[in-house]
Amino acid sequence: RALLEATNLRKSFGPTPALDGAGLSVRAGEVVAVMGPSGSGKSTLLHCLAGILQPDSGTVRYRDAELSSMPDAQRSELRRTDFGFVFQFGQLVPELSCLENVALPLRLGGIKRRAAESRAREWLERLEVTGVADKRPGETSGGQGQRVAVARALVTGPSVVFADEPTGALDSLNGERVMQLLTAAARETNAAVVLVTHEARVAAYSDREVVVRDGKSREVEPAR
Ligand code: ADP
Ligand code: ADP
Repeated sequence: RALLEATNLRKSFGPTPALDGAGLSVRAGEVVAVMGPSGSGKSTLLHCLAGILQPDSGTVRYRDAELSSMPDAQRSELRRTDFGFVFQFGQLVPELSCLENVALPLRLGGIKRRAAESRAREWLERLEVTGVADKRPGETSGGQGQRVAVARALVTGPSVVFADEPTGALDSLNGERVMQLLTAAARETNAAVVLVTHEARVAAYSDREVVVRDGKSREVEPAR
């Protein structure tokens, strides 16, 4: 049974719909790649699945709850407790150290500084970037910064990780390493991953692929 399931989503920002009946489901521990050309609706689909954006119609069910019928405050709380996010770039707070960035979601959840930073340090170790703990994000390489971002997305133990072009700003070697570390950590913690990418090499880390085109989605059988 799906952990998170979107059905028949429609969303328009203008005359042409961004989503025109798209859907997607993901099970616990499963990595699903969302592929498709630029402008096809991938990010809009991800934002609807994550409860960041309300679709015009259609349903998004997470466990036994329907996201669109939740009050905003409850949906925000659910995002904080159950979801993790990795974006292409610009997601770390520049004024904080990398360690403080990873500890931040725990601090926002009311965990005291020492405990939060100790758990954050463990995640920096798992992502093999303890060396940047005391640096600010601007002082790291792109690959290091994305590993810190992955640590921050996973530190709260989310059930679903949303990754929108997480390797888009990286060279292929660093991109592959980030994907290895992200998917290994997700599998260990049984987190589902919804991975938006236009790179086949990145999608190869998924269990399943869904292609979005003109706001419609379809499953593809990968040749592997
Ligand atoms: P993708 O992620 O596949 O590149 P998007 O979901 O970002 O596609 O965009 C799908 C379509 O919706 C595009 O035509 C895009 O311009 C439009 N769109 C997305 N977000 C917005 C927004 N906030 N306001 C207006 N148009 C948007
Ligand atoms: P694209 O896939 O087109 O590059 P981006 O990843 O840059 O899209 O994000 C585009 C949209 O996602 C923007 O409308 C932005 O408001 C929203 N967004 C990005 N990060 C967050 C976040 N952490 N929380 C909520 N919305 C976000």
